[in-house]
Formats: sequence, structure tokens, C-alpha cells
Amino acid sequence: MIRLVDVNKSFGQKEVLRHINLTINDGETLALIGGSGSGKSTLLRLMIGLIQPTSGEIWIDDDEISHYDEAQMDKVRVRMGMVFQYSALFDSMTVGDNVAFGLREHTDYDEEKIRSIVSEKLGLVGLTDVEDMMPNELSGGMKKRVGLARAIAFEPSTIFYDEPDSGLDPVTTEKIDELIISMQKRLNVTSIVVTHDMETACFVADRIAMVYEGELIACAPVDEFRRMKDERIRAFLRGLY
Ligand code: ATP
Ligand code: MG
Repeated sequence: MIRLVDVNKSFGQKEVLRHINLTINDGETLALIGGSGSGKSTLLRLMIGLIQPTSGEIWIDDDEISHYDEAQMDKVRVRMGMVFQYSALFDSMTVGDNVAFGLREHTDYDEEKIRSIVSEKLGLVGLTDVEDMMPNELSGGMKKRVGLARAIAFEPSTIFYDEPDSGLDPVTTEKIDELIISMQKRLNVTSIVVTHDMETACFVADRIAMVYEGELIACAPVDEFRRMKDERIRAFLRGLY
């Protein structure tokens, strides 16, 4: 379970998130939506401990991580997989080495075991025989898949996706959205999906939370969310952000 209690985050004088209270249950898929610059990525970065809140508590299961140092955070992060906004693959490494990176850094598995995990995870995201390719030989959709394979290398209990569909055409977007659902079903993970695409949010999520200018203005099951009357939500649903 992930729980944020009255979380505030400022960068210098700039208040980016205000009074965020949010609980994400095990096995749930939560879509985090909002306009550009509303604070979605910042919220995600707080949840994975890449940055610390100015005040408030962030719980990951029984760990209150808001003031954890890197060593403490490393222990929590093995339970988390992250798929970043811009794939964030290492361009000078093969696909196989990209997926294996964390395993080589954080385990003492032998090469045979690492290779078998790498090909299993690539298979799960629908890729075969790509281990020896370089990232620049892949399409945008394939890069996202590799990013996801890397994120699930440690069999995380939670997967965080930051704009998994950014830069993809509609057909590829749909395939990635299906993949998010299949990860949820096959691995029984908790998923947090940051997106500004309402269609993606409705398709993948159990609940939708909306950030508006640094505040969480709604968090509700998809059907309920779509019926909300708040003008800021209506405008978002009409595609005005
Ligand atoms: P997008 O949809 O464009 O990705 P977002 O909702 O993810 O936007 P954030 O990246 O969380 O938005 O940024 C929210 C606000 O915080 C923005 O005004 C941004 O400029 C500011 N911000 C984010 N990171 C920093 C930082 N490290 N230093 C200063 N300001 C920051
Ligand atoms: Mg962002």
C-alpha cells in the first residue's frame, strides 16, 4: 500500500504540490492525470523516493520513506519498477544489457541466470530476439517495452509509469495500454500510471486521481470520475488541457 499524508513540495519559493492525501491499495491501478506542469511527475518522483517532500509523510507499506537516505531507499526500491517519461535507456548498451543492468548491480546472480531472466521479461512484454540490438535500432513503442522489461526485472510489487504513451501513435499507445493491463493481471502488481490522456486513464485504471495546479482535486473510480461536475474536471474531459 502507498499512502501520502498531507504532502507538500516546494522547489525554492515555488509550491509545486499542496496538501496531497492519497492512498493506493495493493493490486489497484491508479491513473494520475492533470495538465502539463500540474505536478504529476513530481508526485511520482516523491512516491519513488527520488525527491523528498517539504513536509508530510509518504508510506510504502510499512516504510515511511520521506527522509530515507539512498541506502534505505535502495531496499524499498527493489519492490518498485519504474518506467520513465522518456524511456531512459542507456544508448550505449544493448537491449539485453539495459534490462540486465539492475540485476548485475544489485544481485550476485550468475550470467546464465541473468540471461534467462532478461529473456523471460522481454518475452512478457512481447519482445523476442532483441537482446543484441541497440536502443537506437528500436521504434518508440519497442523502447517503452524494453523500459518496462527492465522495470519488472526484480518482480516488483508496484510499477510506476510516467507518461507511458508519450510520443507514440494511437495504435502503439493502445498496445502499451493493453500491456499495462496484462502486467497488472499476470504479475498482480499495483500500478500508478501518470498520463494526460483521458482515454488511457479510463482504459487502464480502477480509479482516477486528478492534479490541478499542485492540488489533488479528485480521486474516484473511473465511472464516478467521468460523472463529476467540477468544471476543471469537465474541461479536462473535453480535452481542454
Ligand atoms: P508534464 O505533463 O508536462 O510532464 P507534470 O504534471 O509532470 O507536467 P511536473 O514535472 O511535476 O509537472 O512539474 C510541476 C511544476 O514543478 C512545474 O512548474 C515545474 O516547472 C516544477 N518543477 C518540477 N521539478 C522541478 C525542479 N527540480 N526544480 C524546480 N521546479 C521544478
Ligand atoms: Mg510529467
